[in-house]
Amino acid sequence: MTVYDGNCRACPRLAGFLDEVNGRYPDYFCKPVPPFGDMAAQFLIVGLAPGMHGANRTGRPFTGDHAGILLYETLHKFGFSTHRESVAADDSLQLDNCRITNAVKCLPPENKPVGAEINTCNSYLGNELAALPKNSVVLALGGIAHRAIIKATGGRQADYKFAHAAVHELEPFRLLDSYHCSRYNTNTRRLTTEMFEGVFAQARELLQHS
Ligand code: SF4
Repeated sequence: MTVYDGNCRACPRLAGFLDEVNGRYPDYFCKPVPPFGDMAAQFLIVGLAPGMHGANRTGRPFTGDHAGILLYETLHKFGFSTHRESVAADDSLQLDNCRITNAVKCLPPENKPVGAEINTCNSYLGNELAALPKNSVVLALGGIAHRAIIKATGGRQADYKFAHAAVHELEPFRLLDSYHCSRYNTNTRRLTTEMFEGVFAQARELLQHS
């Protein structure tokens, strides 16, 4: 069960884009970004895809750009992280009973993977979900991650509609939804700190009563 392949080039458009970006930024990671955290963790956070100057640069999900600021601060506040800021893939930050991955492992142009790319990368996500320990909680950041999770588990999309703070029973784990912690969503206050912390409080509660 492969949950990650650092040499995967199954999506031609994304592989070509990574080559092009690597030419422009030779110091950047520019490969499929590996999930971060213990495979045995019960709390799995699923984002959309690496950001150009964040995970695609550093090689760790949500590290190095704006989207990670609120995420790691909140992880730290709720006891899932040893530090409130993720700086680099080789810093000393550790996650506690938590793991972070992306529905699409490679940087997409304009942060927009196409459907075929989401589908091609879905087998990695499916294997990661299948490997979750019992009584896990999966947090989907945004509707695309939510739908990728439903697809990976073979569920009917119509039975599981994305809504901020919604909880879905998806044997053998529970799926919790949140708006994505992107710069756009936080700047427009579609997602406030209070809203995001509310979702993490729900996650803690679900894990405690699992
Ligand atoms: S997005 Fe996923 S499936 Fe596509 S090339 Fe990257 S790792 Fe492979």
